[in-house]
Amino acid sequence: MTPSLRGGPGRIEDRRARAAALAAVSTAAGQPLRLACAVLEHQLSRVDDATVAAAAALAAGNADRNRITGRYPLLELDPVAEPVAAEVPRAVAALAPRAVPQPLTADGRQLQALGLQGRRELVEAWLDDVGQVNPLVAFWIGVAAGPILETAAASITTPDRSEWTGPACPFCGGWPRISVIAEESGEFMAGSPRFLVCGRCAGWWVFARATCPNCREDDPRKMAAHLADGRRGVRLDVCDTCSAYIKTFDLRVDGSADVVPLVDDVASVALDLWADSRGWHRSSVPLAGV
Ligand SMILES: [Zn+2]
Ligand SMILES: [Zn+2]
Repeated sequence: MTPSLRGGPGRIEDRRARAAALAAVSTAAGQPLRLACAVLEHQLSRVDDATVAAAAALAAGNADRNRITGRYPLLELDPVAEPVAAEVPRAVAALAPRAVPQPLTADGRQLQALGLQGRRELVEAWLDDVGQVNPLVAFWIGVAAGPILETAAASITTPDRSEWTGPACPFCGGWPRISVIAEESGEFMAGSPRFLVCGRCAGWWVFARATCPNCREDDPRKMAAHLADGRRGVRLDVCDTCSAYIKTFDLRVDGSADVVPLVDDVASVALDLWADSRGWHRSSVPLAGV
């Protein structure tokens, strides 16, 4: 039995419902949660589109062969670039200016005006490494790419820990955005597995409990867990060696039954502000790209 990948690839509706529920009660994170809702509603409207489905099928076409031959990431990203570039203006038209802050609207308009080829080059850079593209542009590409990458990732088998142990996403090569300690399941006799969760395709994969995904430090004395006041199910795992942190959701804790990690990440933005004030950085900086 596989642990339930809450809000994992293709489960956009689960994330949208959680974002709406949290937005209704959150004052501190109301704005980013409303942005997340708008993004997820747009992505839901695209996920059944024929061109999105065709691009996802193309991306996943060689996944089984890649897995057998140990070629990662498992998805083929080259055929995805043009369909994602074509999706960007749709995302901008759906969300700007009503649902997004002004700087995002400005960058979205520039992307619309750039033309397919110019956008395609930016998408290729983003697919290669999100950090190569400025965060506002990366927001739009992430919104546009989500339905394609998620549909593709949801259609293939997650590699197990004997096949993939790296910190990058085995599906799409993206950065981990958060970490999750899952409920115990029959498959994992050694206890509760820790997963990393991809910020691009929402994929989950098992990763060593006491290792920094940013620099791979694995000395437990260099890793410190900082618990949030009043929130037992979420903590920051901070690495002394590289000063990076990853937010970790412990789904075994009472009160975590409704947690959808990628969305609760947005709702706990106050923790990121606190970490920033301590000089710790996240290896990926999301803009509600849930
Ligand atoms: Zn991924
Ligand atoms: Zn580190």
